[in-house]
Amino acid sequence: MLNMTFHWKLSQIQERTVKKHCKMCGNISVFTDTNVQRHNANGKSIYKYAIYKCEKNHTWNKKLAIYKSFSEHVTEGEEQTEESSIMPAIPITSLTEQGVKVVHIVLDDVIGKHRIDKVLANQIEDWTRSQIMEKIEKGTIQINEQVIKPSTRLSKGKRISIFI
Ligand SMILES: [Zn+2]
Repeated sequence: MLNMTFHWKLSQIQERTVKKHCKMCGNISVFTDTNVQRHNANGKSIYKYAIYKCEKNHTWNKKLAIYKSFSEHVTEGEEQTEESSIMPAIPITSLTEQGVKVVHIVLDDVIGKHRIDKVLANQIEDWTRSQIMEKIEKGTIQINEQVIKPSTRLSKGKRISIFI
């Protein structure tokens, strides 16, 4: 059985919020990442957006990246640095293809309050938050070999195990 271990340091940044002017509200509002992304094709380029919502539910599409004609990946300097200050995403599908059966995540440090389902939804590519909640409830995502709840908070020194 092939195992893979990641080490995470969670900080407050994890809760992806951006303070910016909301055109609809007419003032500065706090926008929160909905964890929904969408792609828009425009001529030769494909734009990737993260959908943010203000406190009154107005949407703002944050541009994350531009893909040119399906080949090279052109990153947007400024936007990208903000994203990369967070831990790298876990490419779960490609790990599965490599024969990985269990992914362990060791929490080296945890600052602030973090629900496991939210953090995993942010960090795992290809899995939605509802898929993650289902896996937690089925017990294929555990903390320290114990079945947990989607609302379980993460803390320093614990180990998350994901049985694929
Ligand atoms: Zn608004």
